[in-house]
Amino acid sequence: MANPSLLILAGDGIGPEVMAEVKKIIHWMGARRGVTFDVTEDLVGGCAYDKHGVPLHDDTMAKAQEVDAVLLGAVGGPKYDTLDFSVKPERGLLRLRKEMDLFSNLRPAQCFDALADFSSLKKDVVAGLDIVIVRELTSGVYFGEPRGIFTEGNERVGINTQRYTESEIARVARSAFELARKRANKVCSMEKANVMESGILWRDVVQEIHDKEYPDVQLSHMYADNGAMQLVRWPKQFDVIVTDNLFGDVLSDCAAMLTGSLGMLPSASLGAPMANGRPKALYEPVHGSAPDIAGQGKANPIACILSFAMALRYSFDMGEDATRVEKAVEQVLADGLRTADLMGPEGGTPISTTQMGDAIVAALDKSL
Ligand code: NAD
Repeated sequence: MANPSLLILAGDGIGPEVMAEVKKIIHWMGARRGVTFDVTEDLVGGCAYDKHGVPLHDDTMAKAQEVDAVLLGAVGGPKYDTLDFSVKPERGLLRLRKEMDLFSNLRPAQCFDALADFSSLKKDVVAGLDIVIVRELTSGVYFGEPRGIFTEGNERVGINTQRYTESEIARVARSAFELARKRANKVCSMEKANVMESGILWRDVVQEIHDKEYPDVQLSHMYADNGAMQLVRWPKQFDVIVTDNLFGDVLSDCAAMLTGSLGMLPSASLGAPMANGRPKALYEPVHGSAPDIAGQGKANPIACILSFAMALRYSFDMGEDATRVEKAVEQVLADGLRTADLMGPEGGTPISTTQMGDAIVAALDKSL
């Protein structure tokens, strides 16, 4: 059987620094677990613009369509702030998401015990938290037409349109139910069916898909505003939350902050299954290119490493190894190792990006 294939797009700023630590783990998987990945590397974002005049070359796009999974670092930086909108680094990432049709965005919020004090919420509210928000990513109010700023009478009016087809709702619902089956088998769907017709349709379609295809999964519905309250009141009541693009944008940022630092947060964006049954997939940390700390060895590589763990679980059916990586991260944190972003008010000596990666590899070694 062919080796699993990965396209690595490290990107700009701290992207290459954190990706270097992921490569150590990919190497470890080959050396210690007998799983060799066929890895191709290419450019995205500002570095692609510097070389090709575009933030994503057509050849890179074609490679992304062929591999089992894409792993991305981060794009952007002040050097590119004045570029025309059409060639800004972020356009490279948007092109990947659009052309791979990655409609389901998974944002886990997992609180490692050692970092529970880091949250702005009480320790018992967040300790042991492990939830995933599934956000619809390619439709809804960010894409619906008509949109624009128009003049009506003697004043301007800003218009965006929330629009969802049944099939768009159905496919993201399926993605959430599938995910729930690999976890605690619970989905909560969030919308505003009390005031929005698109919310009524959302609720109906999610319920239909559930009843027909996933009756074994426990399904509940909640208005998104109540969902926001519940997330900060008692987030551990949830397992998988599925919601639209706009609510998902807000709720996933809210959930993310339950767990502390931006340097800890992975994500996955999944599309339709390919011929081999695996979903099209792009994995990336939630954080950006962090130009303020780039090149200084201060970046926390954990978000990128946990993104690779998600790839192991969702693209390569290597759930056991995904857990192994997550446990290794948990172990180094429990041992008190911290990059600068994880230093609490009590201070201490931070370790570097490389030292954090090495410590995680050492913890992986011990796990065997
Ligand atoms: P950012 O996420 O890059 O940084 C925000 C803050 O968090 C900074 O203080 C940074 O030092 C810190 N931080 C982020 N990741 C960290 C890590 N792994 N370890 C330690 N500290 C970390 O967001 P920003 O400053 O708003 O944006 C910087 C650039 O990144 C911009 O060009 C922006 O457009 C781009 N960006 C890209 C992505 C992406 O590639 N997906 C996402 C967000 C922002």
